[in-house]
Amino acid sequence: IDWTIEEGWHGAHVQPYGPLTLDPAASVLHYGQEIFEGLKAYRHADGSIWTFRPEANALRLQRSARRMALPELSVPDFIESIKQLIAVDGKWVPSAPETSLYLRPFMIANETFLGVRAAHKVGYYLIASPAGAYFAQGVAPVKIWLTTEYSRAGKGGTGSAKCGGNYASSLTAQVEAYENGCAQVLFLDSETHTNVEELGGMNVFFVRKDGKIVTPKLTGTILEGITRESIITLAKDRGLEVEERTVPISEWKEGVASGQITEVFACGTAAVITPIGQLIGANGLAVGNPDAPAGELTMSLRKELTDIQYGRLPDRHGWMVKLDA
Ligand code: PMP
Repeated sequence: IDWTIEEGWHGAHVQPYGPLTLDPAASVLHYGQEIFEGLKAYRHADGSIWTFRPEANALRLQRSARRMALPELSVPDFIESIKQLIAVDGKWVPSAPETSLYLRPFMIANETFLGVRAAHKVGYYLIASPAGAYFAQGVAPVKIWLTTEYSRAGKGGTGSAKCGGNYASSLTAQVEAYENGCAQVLFLDSETHTNVEELGGMNVFFVRKDGKIVTPKLTGTILEGITRESIITLAKDRGLEVEERTVPISEWKEGVASGQITEVFACGTAAVITPIGQLIGANGLAVGNPDAPAGELTMSLRKELTDIQYGRLPDRHGWMVKLDA
């Protein structure tokens, strides 16, 4: 769908997948005025195709758009774009267990000019790609790298927007994580470097021995994960107490060592819920046992959420939206 300052949104259409033509002076290439989303289409046992909480993605795309001086796409237009893609390409939604069609909506500034200002010409696109089971060999706890040198976002920055720049600035730390045999990097807050924020592409949760579930609160510097919010809801449904608050990294280290923290997990659309086995970092930091099995609550929340997504459990919160006719 195209947008211009004169006409607003117009020209919605579906076209065969292929390269985009961009002018070398297109503003997105120089100033990074770009936002995106990530969600999945799931095939249920009866063959029908569904997605999970698309309104939440649409609203987050709107918040990201406001932060990045891009135009807002309406919630119905966002959902309609997914339905129209599925109408043409629904055959690509796989049916094997735990597979899905990953949907990537994105918006870029594509006005041709050199100069720093909000573009007057923008494009919204939606592409998709079949995704295999994230843990083909069974869900295995991952190792996480604590970066002390880099931050992901600061106060007043774009941390809560889903924009490419956040990911670009996280890549050096992610390279460091990979070099140290870790799946993802953990960022602390940029001001005090003492509080847990999030992973490169996932939010973090702690299960305490006293039964409480703890996750860093939304401060404007972390992404408001839709999986995060869904897990909070499912945990509260079970009568569990959920605390959204500041989580000092010392609480993670000491809590795991003393047994006060019994499970740590990460969550996001791609992997749903991933148990975190160990946190490692500079100066020999090593918290947790990489060989310990995945936590019980971690796995049962994972099962409940995926059962809802794949239509194996009733959708009591009205989270699922049918995509095919
Ligand atoms: N934090 C970051 C930085 C992410 O990229 C993601 C993935 N979108 C998440 C958290 C999890 O968000 P969601 O549950 O909406 O996928």
